[in-house]
Amino acid sequence: MVNLLDFDLDALSAHCEQLGERPFRAVQLFRWIHQRGASDFSHMTDLARSLREQLPSQAHVAAPPVVSEQASDDGTTKWLFDVGGGNAVETVFIPEAERGTLCVSSQAGCAVGCRFCATGHQGFSRNLTTGEIVGQLWFAEHLLRARLGLAPGERAIDNVVMMGMGEPLQNYGALLPALRVMLDDHGYGLSRRRVTVSTSGVVPMIDRLRDNCPVALAVSLHAPDDALRDQLVPLNRKYPLHELLAACVRYLDAAPRDFVTFEYCMLDGVNDSIEQARALVRLVRDRVSCKINLIPFNPFADSGLQRSPRERVTAFADVLQGAGIVTTVRRTRGDDIAAACGQLAGEVRDRTRVAQRLARGTIPLLPVEPARR
Ligand code: SF4
Repeated sequence: MVNLLDFDLDALSAHCEQLGERPFRAVQLFRWIHQRGASDFSHMTDLARSLREQLPSQAHVAAPPVVSEQASDDGTTKWLFDVGGGNAVETVFIPEAERGTLCVSSQAGCAVGCRFCATGHQGFSRNLTTGEIVGQLWFAEHLLRARLGLAPGERAIDNVVMMGMGEPLQNYGALLPALRVMLDDHGYGLSRRRVTVSTSGVVPMIDRLRDNCPVALAVSLHAPDDALRDQLVPLNRKYPLHELLAACVRYLDAAPRDFVTFEYCMLDGVNDSIEQARALVRLVRDRVSCKINLIPFNPFADSGLQRSPRERVTAFADVLQGAGIVTTVRRTRGDDIAAACGQLAGEVRDRTRVAQRLARGTIPLLPVEPARR
């Protein structure tokens, strides 16, 4: 039994061809699934009867089962999806005045093990399939459309950020078809500018994304130098800043936006000094066209880290803005339901030693000299 959410349009066409159907049948089927949220083949009235009769015995359309739903006071909604084997992943819908954003997970856990991230502390179990990635959008879009009473053709979600659990570029094989479904005019028809892949810096895969499916790019930077970034984002030891920034510059050749977004999580006493703001300016200015998004750290159990005070975030932002770098401070959404940035945890059966390494403190933080602040 195949899950048709695993297929982009090309793969669905090939599948229909195997069933003896013409390619345009795949377009009809794809539109029923993604544009109308249908999963019952008998309702797909314009499909050839032969296809309607064949499909139920060998295919289905199914998102991972929902374990729970939580709604925040600010309208943010978080779903926990059961992906089997004791693992569950989280997806967050963030409503805003002008748009609806869905934050999608790409892995059960994450092997990168960033110091400030709840997912990273849980370790890694497995990659999600394309169907499990697309299923988060399919489920949320059609549920929200029904709840909001939207007219046919109106969208609940017009912005997707691959910023949930996992490092999407370490699950590239499943990510790529999922992005194609999101962008396809017969699927969700999202603009390339409104689909963002966020990476901790998997340099070779940034190049592949540029070549295969350039969408908006966000990079988890979090430090202005290699010494600190090695500790906060362990992948930096493999792909240091000069390689990462060069990949960002190459990416911009094909990107739908003329800047890369650098995410910078503000950690009290770790990466938030004025000197570090100046170092960040020296790192990126005149090197890569960018926007910097300062993210208030969202504490979680055992993180051992604190959120930077508001005035320090403001002072840090002032330095960046004073140097002509477009800088935003992300408004925290959904922190009352642990849905804010860096808080997603789900349930992960760790099959690596990331969690143990972090727990044993082998990825310690160097103390920041007070004099540098
Ligand atoms: S910040 Fe992203 S890459 Fe780093 S551990 Fe968390 S999910 Fe993984």
